[in-house]
Amino acid sequence: MSSHKVAVIGAGSAGTLAAVRLRQLLNDAVQITVYERGSQAGGRAWDVDFAGTTIEIGGTVLHSTGRHTMDLMKLTGAEEGHYTSGISGDDKTFWFWTDKGFVVKTGDSLPSMALGIVKHVGPFSALRVTMSVQKVAKKWTGIYALQDAGQTFDTPQQMLSALGLNAETGVSVRDELHNHHVNSRMIDDVVVPIVHNMYNQGGELNSLAGQVGLAGAGLAGGYLFSVKGGNRTLFSQALAKIEADVQLNTAVTRIAGATNSDGGLTWTLTTSSGSSQFDAVVLAAPLALADLELTLDGTPLSVSVYPYQQVNTTLVVGELAPEYFGLPAGAKLPGNFFVADSAKQPFKSLGITGFSPVYQQRIYKIFSAERKMSDELLARIFSSVSAVHRHVWRGAYPVLPAGIDHVPFILAPGLTYGCAFETAAGAVEVEAVGGYNAGSLAANALRLK
Ligand SMILES: Cc1cc2nc3c(=O)[nH]c(=O)nc-3n(C[C@H](O)[C@H](O)[C@H](O)COP(=O)(O)OP(=O)(O)OC[C@H]3O[C@@H](n4cnc5c(N)ncnc54)[C@H](O)[C@@H]3O)c2cc1C
Repeated sequence: MSSHKVAVIGAGSAGTLAAVRLRQLLNDAVQITVYERGSQAGGRAWDVDFAGTTIEIGGTVLHSTGRHTMDLMKLTGAEEGHYTSGISGDDKTFWFWTDKGFVVKTGDSLPSMALGIVKHVGPFSALRVTMSVQKVAKKWTGIYALQDAGQTFDTPQQMLSALGLNAETGVSVRDELHNHHVNSRMIDDVVVPIVHNMYNQGGELNSLAGQVGLAGAGLAGGYLFSVKGGNRTLFSQALAKIEADVQLNTAVTRIAGATNSDGGLTWTLTTSSGSSQFDAVVLAAPLALADLELTLDGTPLSVSVYPYQQVNTTLVVGELAPEYFGLPAGAKLPGNFFVADSAKQPFKSLGITGFSPVYQQRIYKIFSAERKMSDELLARIFSSVSAVHRHVWRGAYPVLPAGIDHVPFILAPGLTYGCAFETAAGAVEVEAVGGYNAGSLAANALRLK
């Protein structure tokens, strides 16, 4: 049987699921080459060795209701671990920080968090948000039955309509919750701090993204985990299992489609190490970050490029200074801080992420959107700092306002875009869904050849 040649650009969640789906649908009738600019697969699911341990610095928390993620766990035989490591005792507590101080203090369980929140906002607003998130999550999980039945989507709008979720991307999470009579305390002091932690953006996020953020915090059931040995290993191992040819440290700089003698399109990819031809291409890297040129018969392809948001991840081994948080020296502090806009802090979230066996101290992870956490700033937040690691995500997530006209999954015949859905909502599983769709579309295009 003649074999189709397909290139997948990007070995993150979207690219891996596209490759897995191509293998499922076309079996050995397809040769899959994955080009990855980085030194390993994983993309924004990434970890670093720091202070004697391994810490996730990108996509960290995975969700048990994410079917594609769980399928990758099965395919690779990966084991589940906790998303913080090596800490003990009472540290998984959450405090919500506003201009009025810590308005919600919760223990380490969901019921305790729920109780703490209800005390601050009243039962009705808390219930309305929970019900809304559960409704959105239920609609969203409808995607699996559609994908199992072989349904594909040419555009994110089509996918959203099929799931009954179009309205949610047309309105901000703040306006949507106001419309549902959720009070300002719930929105400003609880919802926004939680979505800050997920997206480093606030109430202006489209409502679907906001509610995905809340579901990611556990409001929609299921449980949260990370992969033992690092989330990114899920992708490298899955690509090895399906026998994709993975070209690491290889950036694609140009994707050029040219009409061939059969009237179809042949795709030529230019990389740092030469050029190769393919029958189909899945672009599974965000257009805003991929730094590549797209042409069709010599003319640049016209596609909207939506901006992505910079995020600084700072890891700190040390002891927090209670005084910075308006508390007396020696006061107990929580494991995690959710930060409201009104607290006017230079960071969006701060929490324990592990324990350093080298320093015998906790490791904190801080997310700050535009601002770098300077040594001077850290010296105010911490009473002692033993080690620091800084990582700048040039684009952590798309900027996610309401009402965007998303880029289609099909950019041209034989060229699909695995990250198209990310301007509606982004997370490891959401990108897996988009990548799976792009892989299915690519396989369908090849079967028609
Ligand atoms: C700080 C941070 C925290 C997060 N926390 C969570 C979380 O807790 N839970 C969650 O579910 N999600 C989280 N996310 C989001 C999640 O990580 C992403 O949505 C998801 O990993 C994106 O997958 P992707 O495949 O679409 O893109 P990416 O993971 O970005 O993959 C694209 C790949 O393409 C490669 N590439 C780019 N351009 C080229 C090129 N020209 N040639 C070759 N290769 C190229 C890149 O190197 C990259 O490996 C977080 C993200 C960040 C940054």
